[in-house]
Amino acid sequence: MGFSDIRGEYDIVVAGGGITGAGVFHEAVRQGFKTLLVEARDFAWGTSSRSSKMVHGGLRYLKQGKFFMTGAAVKEREYLLRQYPGLVTPIKFIMPLFDHYGPSRLSMKAGLSIYSFLAGEKQHQGFKKKEALEKIPGIREETLLSAVGFKDAQVDDARLVLRLIHDACRNGGKALNYTKVTGVERDKKGWVAAVLVRGEATGTGREIKSPVLINATGAFAEILHPSPMKGFHIRPLRGSHLFFSSARIPLTRVISFIHPADLRPVFLFPWEGVMVLGTTDVDHDADLTSEPGISKEEADYLMEGVTHVLPGMNLSLSRCISSMAGVRPVLSRKKTAASKESREHVVWQDKGLVTVTGGKLTTFRLLARDALKAAKPFLPVRAPGPVSPAKSLPLDLYSSLRVSGRTVERIIGRYGPKAGSGILGQDETLLTPVGNTPVIWAEIRHAAKHENIHHLSDLMLRRVRIGLLLPEGGVHLLDRVESICRPFLPWDKERWEKEKKEYANLWQTCYSPPEPLKEP
Ligand SMILES: Cc1cc2nc3c(=O)[nH]c(=O)nc-3n(C[C@H](O)[C@H](O)[C@H](O)COP(=O)(O)OP(=O)(O)OC[C@H]3O[C@@H](n4cnc5c(N)ncnc54)[C@H](O)[C@@H]3O)c2cc1C
Repeated sequence: MGFSDIRGEYDIVVAGGGITGAGVFHEAVRQGFKTLLVEARDFAWGTSSRSSKMVHGGLRYLKQGKFFMTGAAVKEREYLLRQYPGLVTPIKFIMPLFDHYGPSRLSMKAGLSIYSFLAGEKQHQGFKKKEALEKIPGIREETLLSAVGFKDAQVDDARLVLRLIHDACRNGGKALNYTKVTGVERDKKGWVAAVLVRGEATGTGREIKSPVLINATGAFAEILHPSPMKGFHIRPLRGSHLFFSSARIPLTRVISFIHPADLRPVFLFPWEGVMVLGTTDVDHDADLTSEPGISKEEADYLMEGVTHVLPGMNLSLSRCISSMAGVRPVLSRKKTAASKESREHVVWQDKGLVTVTGGKLTTFRLLARDALKAAKPFLPVRAPGPVSPAKSLPLDLYSSLRVSGRTVERIIGRYGPKAGSGILGQDETLLTPVGNTPVIWAEIRHAAKHENIHHLSDLMLRRVRIGLLLPEGGVHLLDRVESICRPFLPWDKERWEKEKKEYANLWQTCYSPPEPLKEP
């Protein structure tokens, strides 16, 4: 569907194609509402492709006494693991405990017992120093006391957004990227009567009749809906990550450690075949419409932490493949340290304009339900739409293919059974990995054919994540990408060259490592 195809009236227009907007869209369609989602840039262009990829209860929120928030997130984690196997996958965490700083074994044990209680089963264990040394590569030995282990989950964040959007579209919803909401029209009573949108490619504006606009624009939320909470405003906080090759040190679990400089938790985790180190938490004063990038200070902060805790890993910036930065939409009076700001979401309602922002990737369904509850007085009564029950993966159907069970699981999880089968049914030459990543070429062809790509960066950074996983953002593969995608993208030779150049420039500016890569 393109901009010129938007017709008729809608019950709900959703602004923002990140996880919050996608969650609202998915839930609204499930509840039977005629819903249109519009995203000003690309789906998941904002924070939702730049998270730490964890589907978690947030152990650290227990320390702040946020039992309800953590309990709700743990429940969501369990639901998402059941509903999206292959996309949301369990992962083990280990946290070293030292005698000179950081939490004590006793406080961790207490916190983890509550965490396990909230999950309804014991999901943690303690490790003696000897076991900790075996399980954590390169750990600082002298002051190490022991370690604790626990379970959480991880995800490909951008693909979760896309999975929700595509599932909702299959059930009757409409979604458009590169289309911006510019405002609302109100009737005499001041109620929302129509939503104004603009196609970003053509600059053409249009009015869409709808009694409800759900504003899920994250850090941009106050542009459409200034904060009604006196003194509270969105405080954009940047969090950045560094990506490293895991060829020399394959990690099988997340190493969660306390940064010695400010006692914040930092993670080194395996993801899509690489190791990721993050995150930071700093005020983001740059223009929100430009893509954020990591600063040298943030990179140094992350390296200082990892070098202190894991000196034997010999990680250095010269081995970094890429970087990524995202902006948290946090509601604040700007009085506290960035990392102490509340991560809870807020919902504001103004006669059909409903804003939902803050929160976490993990809890997107809770945000969606709260937003729809606030919109209810302005919505017609509708019969619920189709429900998609959790499905076990039909892995045996693919046993004759020359791909591993893991790849099948990954593809079906990311794309759903129908589109996933289409991908796995492609020519065998396309069922091979892209470089040393778990991505297969068939995904690239599928994305070009079916997934609303407007720019090469949409494909390389969000449909598949090879822009983060390969040195130089995978620019050396762009000719093969072109030959696979050319039949499906309406681009001539000149446009392809322009897209390649723009992608390479964007990658250098916002995703490159802070120092040139020497040896991956
Ligand atoms: C560094 C970092 C790490 C994180 N790690 C985790 C984690 O591990 N687990 C977890 O659960 N949570 C995590 N979070 C939190 C989580 O990522 C965010 O809460 C979530 O992604 C916010 O999603 P969103 O949809 O509200 O915003 P966004 O993803 O930013 O989406 C908003 C979208 O709205 C679009 N938009 C803006 N204006 C308009 C307009 N006028 N019309 C149409 N569209 C518009 C933007 O282009 C954007 O795509 C992390 C956050 C950060 C920053």
